[in-house]
Amino acid sequence: MRSSHYTRRNNNKGVMLIAIVSLVSLIIFFFTMSDVDRSPPSIALKYNEIYVGKNKHIKIKLKDNAHIKNYKITITDGNDEIVLAEEENVLEKKIILNVKFPKVDLFFKKDNAILLVEAKDSSLWNFFMGNKTTREIPLIFDDTLPEIRIISKSKSIRMGGSGVVVFSLKEDNIEDLYINLGGGLKFYPIKFHKDNNYVSLMVWDVKVNNISPTIVAIDKAGNEAIVPIIMNKKFSSYKKSKIKLSNNFLNKKITNLYRNLDLKPEESDKIEKFININEKQRKLNSTLILANATKIKENMINSFSLNSFTPLRRYATVGSFGVFREFSYRKLKVSESYHLGIDIASIRNDNIKTSNSGEVVFTDEVGIYGKSIILYHQLGIYSLYSHLSELFAYKGNKVQKGDIIAKTGQTGLAMGDHLHFSIIIQGVFARPNEWLSQEWIDNNIIAILDNAKYLIDQN
Ligand SMILES: [Zn+2]
Repeated sequence: MRSSHYTRRNNNKGVMLIAIVSLVSLIIFFFTMSDVDRSPPSIALKYNEIYVGKNKHIKIKLKDNAHIKNYKITITDGNDEIVLAEEENVLEKKIILNVKFPKVDLFFKKDNAILLVEAKDSSLWNFFMGNKTTREIPLIFDDTLPEIRIISKSKSIRMGGSGVVVFSLKEDNIEDLYINLGGGLKFYPIKFHKDNNYVSLMVWDVKVNNISPTIVAIDKAGNEAIVPIIMNKKFSSYKKSKIKLSNNFLNKKITNLYRNLDLKPEESDKIEKFININEKQRKLNSTLILANATKIKENMINSFSLNSFTPLRRYATVGSFGVFREFSYRKLKVSESYHLGIDIASIRNDNIKTSNSGEVVFTDEVGIYGKSIILYHQLGIYSLYSHLSELFAYKGNKVQKGDIIAKTGQTGLAMGDHLHFSIIIQGVFARPNEWLSQEWIDNNIIAILDNAKYLIDQN
């Protein structure tokens, strides 16, 4: 009896010991186990503060090494709490939420408002409780629209041509501001003269049939103001020109250019070569040119003056802007393209002089354009000179009015020695004829800016 009693006591001790050992090893196991996720979920939010306006949505990204189990997104003013999103037992590694802000009532204290994001993972860490992350982001309520007032603008704009607008903007938290012409045409204003006044040039891209220009201002809370810019739209019908491709041109110019540009496939039909050059290469080359002629380099502008461009002293125009060229071979149409500059010719290898000071932003051989140079002037205006035989200025150089920057030639896709001249405004080819006329520049750009400055100073 006694011995059995002892045995039972020993047995109890044994069970206790086993229990303690198991518990300790379980704890050690959890603390040392490498695949227990100890890192809390991450909450990706772009902002340190969030502006809340009408129809405001924000994107919240939740991520965890293991799985997100629960999340909860609320807005609170310290007393009231509004749940925007909540889910339990999700078990996803990544969650992307697009949260819409609700309308809050009068009693909600907007000044104390914060967004609270809580996420918990499915880890066994913390004694099966998981890891938790909490983020608090201050909310700034703003439901006033940006206020736009047009001060001065061009009276008219011609298809392919340019215009200008000056306006004032009242908005402390601006997020995006641009001139929208429709058809994918956007131009970005810069500060003008003083206070909250802005100026932007715009171009009615000749490839776009119609425009409806507006100023668009969007604040950080998502409030969007759109104001139309009323201008007289002058529709122009640009010429169509039918060009018959000669065997001589295809065999000599196209074959040589195709070889010089190292285009593939090496062995292809002369018409295929022409189509490749006129369409694929033209697109690639124009994209490269425009990419180098997009930025506005000033932060603000106070005074603007510009001389009309006269790149050659005496010249004849041999190719007009905006012409839609249709190419045919043996009576069959094979390709087409727009001519987005003017071609002017003088004597061979004539000197090209600058009419305005500027900065050389690009010099290179560019496929069909041949040897080219791009100058930056002001307010997003660039001038391009192509088919050159020689260059005298290089990227980074500052040039003055009257400097000889290059000589004309016939590099690239040129038939005979001539200069291809383009005006580019914020990455869009503009009708150069306007910028070749001092009268047009004075009446349509400079007068508008002078008038705007006068009106701003009156206030
Ligand atoms: Zn040309």
